[in-house]
Parts: sequence; structure tokens; C-alpha cells
Amino acid sequence: MTQPLIQLVEVTKAFQRGQVSAKALRGVTVDIHSGEFVAIVGASGSGKSTLMNILGLLDRPTGGRYRLSGKDVSTLANAKAAELRRHHFGFVFQQYHLIEHYSALQNVEVPAVYAGVPTPERQVRAKVLLSRLGLAERTQNRPSQLSGGQQQRVALARALMNGADVILADEPTGALDKETGGEVLSVLKELASEGRTVVLITHDQDVAQAADRIIQIEDGRIVSDTASKKSDEYGEMSGSSDLLSRTSPGLMVHEAAAAAWWSLVLNPFRTTLTLLGIIIGVAAVIAMLAIGRGTQIRMLEQASAVGTNWIMIGQNSNLSTASSPITADDVGALKDLPNVEGAMPRFVEQATVRYESKDFTTQVIGTDEDFQKVHRWNVQAGAFFTKHDEISVASVVVLGAKVATRLFDADENVVGKSILINNASFVVIGVLEGKGTSENGEDRDDTVVMPLRTAQMRVFGETSLALIVTSIADMGKFTETAEIIKGVLTRRHGREDFWMYDAAAALERANDSRRNLNLLLAAIGSISLLVGGIGIMNIMLVSVKERTREIGIRMAVGATTQDISRQFLIEAAMLSGIGGTVGLAIGGIIGLLAAMTFHMTVVFSVTVWVGAFLSSVLLGVLFGYAPARRAALLEPVQALSAN
Ligand code: ADP
Ligand code: MG
Repeated sequence: MTQPLIQLVEVTKAFQRGQVSAKALRGVTVDIHSGEFVAIVGASGSGKSTLMNILGLLDRPTGGRYRLSGKDVSTLANAKAAELRRHHFGFVFQQYHLIEHYSALQNVEVPAVYAGVPTPERQVRAKVLLSRLGLAERTQNRPSQLSGGQQQRVALARALMNGADVILADEPTGALDKETGGEVLSVLKELASEGRTVVLITHDQDVAQAADRIIQIEDGRIVSDTASKKSDEYGEMSGSSDLLSRTSPGLMVHEAAAAAWWSLVLNPFRTTLTLLGIIIGVAAVIAMLAIGRGTQIRMLEQASAVGTNWIMIGQNSNLSTASSPITADDVGALKDLPNVEGAMPRFVEQATVRYESKDFTTQVIGTDEDFQKVHRWNVQAGAFFTKHDEISVASVVVLGAKVATRLFDADENVVGKSILINNASFVVIGVLEGKGTSENGEDRDDTVVMPLRTAQMRVFGETSLALIVTSIADMGKFTETAEIIKGVLTRRHGREDFWMYDAAAALERANDSRRNLNLLLAAIGSISLLVGGIGIMNIMLVSVKERTREIGIRMAVGATTQDISRQFLIEAAMLSGIGGTVGLAIGGIIGLLAAMTFHMTVVFSVTVWVGAFLSSVLLGVLFGYAPARRAALLEPVQALSAN
């Protein structure tokens, strides 16, 4: 006696519904031989579909044994089960279960994709199968463009694609009218006569008559079986000896990429939404860092234009006991120190300047003749005031370039003119060269300069002096000179009741603020990217839900967990790669626009571009992986019944 192809021994299946466990199969024992055409008949809810899912390895029994060609497959690993489905089983469902966005031809091809059959070969085979089933003219139609009977014939062609030995058909005529149903039944009959094993599941006694053997099922038990022939008249499953040893390469990367590509192209709305997150993230990073870096470089340039060889000294008013004021004598003491190029007092107040009918507020600097040395600032007309002017408290003033142009016409001779400053009269003796804007944004040319005592006595009527500015000749001895200055002043004041501030400290502060700016920009960029990543994850989760049925179909025709994960991973990587690329382009355009329209300094960095692109892809893959796993770990039958 030959070994049965399918052997079920006391198979049970229970479904857990909350606390209650419902028994769909209550001990089914049956043998089916290779080449048999069997109908399983029973009322709705009797357990037919459950039985078929177990036969097709779409689901696992809770109890009992399932032997396929003598080998126990009740507890087979997922990948092995997928392989058996791929090569030995073909499914036909009442709802057809075609992939909606694929053409008839593509649907028929799917099982061969997972078997690693090259494209030209599988297309030829799919066309042959479709013609055989009378669909030669319909290969490019989508399922929605086909009638029910045509869709079911596409499903039949798909079931035959990998040369299945066993066709499992669950109510294949259930959604069809009598005539088209009859056509489908005759195809099944034909397949059986070719030597394939056909299991036809139906609630309809008439449909069951098409089969050679009818098994009646009621409430999860077999109640009758017309086993027509003796078992030894059947052959064995073809190639059954190597049933479990067959291996295939799995889904090839380019096939997974093609599937991923289709799903992106055919879901433009979903694709666009996901892309938006990444595009905004990447573009934000690129544009912000480019503008940030540009700002940095601009600050550096400005800092170096001012010079770095100065030290500023001021009275420290934060002490608990009153500090002694800085005096003109302090300034004099510093002037004679070695390596001190110049030392000037600096007294600054706002005042109103007036000439004829023009008047406005500007800043008045009271200082001495070292002003030019310390600031390296020449006059463009006239002369700077002298030591003699200081001693005699002369009413002379040197104008900043901006004040000169605001008070006088371009062709007017400024030197020698009398102007009013806070209603006191001054003679203009010179005009300074233009210096432009300082690093903190103040216009250095919006100023007038006069002797210290003149400013104190004739304009403001006070004698306090807030600041000394010194410049250092040899920057190589900067630190030593700063120490000497500190020593001299400490001795003169009896304690260190003053503060000192130099360009190095200013630069450090500028660097600090730059670092903070960079950190802030990086943080904003990362958050944008992260939001983009979460967007991908969300979309992937939604798409998994949307496409669970498609995943079920793919698993039914033999896709493994790994195949499904791979497809989703590639899809995520592709999506984020496209988003990243578009983001780079948009970020670049924003940067260029900022440079051209707002005249900002913009500096692009290859590192930032590569980094932003890689992190967008990495995020896509990371966030895409969780949903991919979730989809891949579903049991085929769970996935198929999703709605
Ligand atoms: P048939 O195909 O004969 O109509 P089924 O095999 O689909 O019957 O179902 C048999 C019994 O098992 C029914 O009572 C059904 O409600 C139950 N059942 C089937 N699938 C599930 C499931 N996934 N979860 C819970 N109960 C189920
Ligand atoms: Mg059913």
C-alpha cells in the first residue's frame, strides 16, 4: 500500500476568544492520496476553512499530527512552511485574494518571484497559464478591471505558477454565478485529471459532486467519507522524497526593490506625506547649518577687522566696598610701560549735534591723542587734536565719517566749520576715515571725538572716567604685558578694584556663542529629522495595516518572514533615500536664495550633506524595521483575514 500524501491524525484547532476557547476542529483524522480530487462539504461554520488552512500550512493545529508524505509538518519552522507552500501548494480563495495594484500578469508572477525565477522566464510561463485559462487578452488588466470569474481564473493561474502538486480551493465558486462557477470547476477537474491533488471546499452539495470523493464535515468532525477508490491505486507525490530538502535563494534584492518601488509609485498620497517629513528635516538641517556657518565666518572676519591687540580696563562697580575711580593719572602711568603702544581714556556719552537746520543724536567720545594709535584710525581731512588742545581744554572736535556726511553736503569744506554739541559751540578740526560696522552691529562712524577734559567740562559737566583702552605693540608678549598693567594699577589703587577685558576674551565669548548657536541649529535639525523618522514609522505602520492582506497573499504563495521584512526594509530605505535627496536639493536652494536675496554669507559643507543624507536613510531603515518585523511575523491566515 502506498503512503498517503496527506495524513491527519486527531487534528484539533481551538481559537481563543478572550476567556472562551472555541473549538473549530474537534479531532479530524483523514488520509488523502496523491492525485485525488476531494471535496470537503459542510455548513457554514463547520470548520472547512480552518481545515484547509491547516492542510495548506497557512495555520497550525493546536493538537494532533499532520504528516505530509510521511514527514511530520505540524510544528514546522516558518521558513520551511513557506517553502512548502511555495513549491507544493496552490491556493484559490472565495475572495480571489489578488494584489489590487498589480496587473493580472504580475499577480500570476508573484509565486515565481519568491522562487527566484528570472523575469523573462516567469513572464512567459505566466502568459502561457493565463492563455490556457482564456485570459490571453487580459494580462495587463488590474483585478478591478476583471469580472469575478476572470479574477478567479487569474488566481488559478497563480496557484499553478510554481507547478503546485496540491491545489487547495476554498469556496472557489462561492462568489460566482452558476455558469462561471461551472467553468472554474471544470478547470479544477482538468487539473485533477492531470494527476494533481485537488481539495475543493464548499458548502454546496451540487458543487461537491464535481469531485471523486466527498468528505462531509459537521461541527469540526468528519461525519461521512465516500473514499471511492482503494488507497493503493494512487501514486505518490511527485518528488516527495526531497520534499523538505528543497531550498531556494529567497527574495532577491532587486525583486524586493521592484516590489517596494511599485508600492511607492502606486500610493502617491502616502508616499508624498512620508517624504514631506524627511524632506523638511533634511532641508532644515542643510539650510540652517549653511547659514549658521556663514554667520560664524562673518563674525570671525569682523572680529579680525577690529584687531586683537587691545586691552580694556574699567572700574569694577560690583565690589562690596566702593572702588577708587580710574583717573587720567592711571592712563598716564600705563602710557610709559614697555610694550604698551598707546593708552587712552575713554569717556562716552550721547549728545545732540547741530549744524544749521540739521540735528541728531550721536555718541561723543572723550579721549586723548593716543586714540589714533590705539584704534589705528587716521583722519581723511584736517587733523586730529593735539596734547596742547587737551591741556587748554580747546573746543575742538573730530567728526566720524557718518556724522560728517549727515551734517554737511558732499562738496562742503568741513574743516573750520562751527557746530553745536548740546548747545556748546565747537570747531571741526578733522574728519575720521570710515570704519564701518563693528562686530556687535554698532556703526563706528556714527561718533564725534574730542579731548577728554573738553567732553567732561564743556559738554557733560562730570569728571568720572569709566574706561582705559590700551594697545599692545608685540602680541608675542601679550600675556606678560597684561600682567604688568594689572600689577601697576593694583599698586596704584591698593587692590584689584578694576576689570580687564581683551580681544582674546572677546573672541572666546564669540566662540562660545557660536558653539551655542551651532548646538541649537544641530538640535533643531536633529529634531526635524527625528520627526521625519517618526513620520516614516507611522506611515509604515499604517501601510502594514493597509497591506496586511497583501502580505498574507505573498506569504500564501511562499514568501518567508525574511522576504517580507526585506521588502519593507528596502521600501523604507528607498523612501528615505528619495526624501533625503530631495531634502538636500531644497536645503541647497534655500541656502542659495538666502545668499542671493538677503545677502547672507552661506557656507555649504560636504560633511553636513553626507551626514544629513545618511542619517535620513538610517532613520528610515530604523523606523521602517519595526513595522516590517511586525508585518513579517504575522501568521499567513491572520494576515489574509485582515480587513
Ligand atoms: P467554515 O469555513 O466551515 O465556514 P471556519 O473554519 O471558517 O468555518 O470556522 C469554524 C469555526 O471556527 C467557526 O465557529 C468560526 O467562528 C471559528 N473561527 C474561525 N476562525 C477563527 C478565528 N480566527 N478566531 C476565532 N474563531 C474562529
Ligand atoms: Mg469558510
